[in-house]
Amino acid sequence: MALSLMSAMRLLALSMLAATGAQAGRPKPGPASMAEHQRQCAGKDGWSDPAPPIRIFANVYDVGTCGITVLLIAGPKGHILIDAATAKAVPSIMANIGRLGFRPGDIKYLLSSHEHVDHVGGLDDMQRLTGATPVASAAARPMLESGKLAADDPQRGLIPDYTGVRVGRIVRDGDVVAVGPLRLTAHLTPGHSAGGTSWSWTSCAGKACHGIAYIDSLNAVSADDYRFSAHPAQVARLRATIARVKRMRCDILVTPHPSGSNLYARLAGQAPLSDSKACAAYATAAATRLNQRLASEAAAAKAAGSTRQ
Ligand SMILES: [Zn+2]
Repeated sequence: MALSLMSAMRLLALSMLAATGAQAGRPKPGPASMAEHQRQCAGKDGWSDPAPPIRIFANVYDVGTCGITVLLIAGPKGHILIDAATAKAVPSIMANIGRLGFRPGDIKYLLSSHEHVDHVGGLDDMQRLTGATPVASAAARPMLESGKLAADDPQRGLIPDYTGVRVGRIVRDGDVVAVGPLRLTAHLTPGHSAGGTSWSWTSCAGKACHGIAYIDSLNAVSADDYRFSAHPAQVARLRATIARVKRMRCDILVTPHPSGSNLYARLAGQAPLSDSKACAAYATAAATRLNQRLASEAAAAKAAGSTRQ
């Protein structure tokens, strides 16, 4: 497909930015310390606020922004990227990949958590800059390719559309995406969105191995006029996923919104990085918020009913 002159020029500018590290002002190569990360993200948690790259564990890096996780899982035969934040964040993601010493062309697959702009708005640009194959569930595919939220998405109207990306490979629950020794398992976890997907794998630093669980958002967030109580099938789907996550084997939990799993504080040593109960706690907190949301909807409906009488 021919690129327009504008997008060709934009891609050239992005590649030059990544090659020179200009966005980050020529920082020293390799992952940033948490002190550097905290300095750069102080008072910032926006979807597109540039953050320096940090190492989560072994070959797992967060190359995302101050508010959104983008994971690079590095391997000797090629790498895998999960999520791409927004289109606006792509230059800083590219600079982070360059700073870590990895070549964008060695990224083989682009995975994602769920089809909302803050996590996949940058996928189309990332695909063109890396040549990697976008991977998604059949449920996520129509939204990822159109860049539009599903008709029944609770956040439709709340968050913007984005440029879609052509999905090159469909995964089912339990499928493994492999690049050399990297083996990531897909877990279909719909609820926050219809195409929500979580990923798990094992990473080792020498003989020390940890299971990494990248668990999708479980929040019942919606546009103002949406009532979860009016959509029992949506609620049932979210509850089933929450129950599933609660039972998942957990070791190092990472979430698309770093704040969802206290990620930066854990990496700064303020809480344990590895915690076998982390997935259960993440699920329980989501169930509590869902119940609170349903209770407040019921209270609002009751109040509206009594004013009508
Ligand atoms: Zn979302």
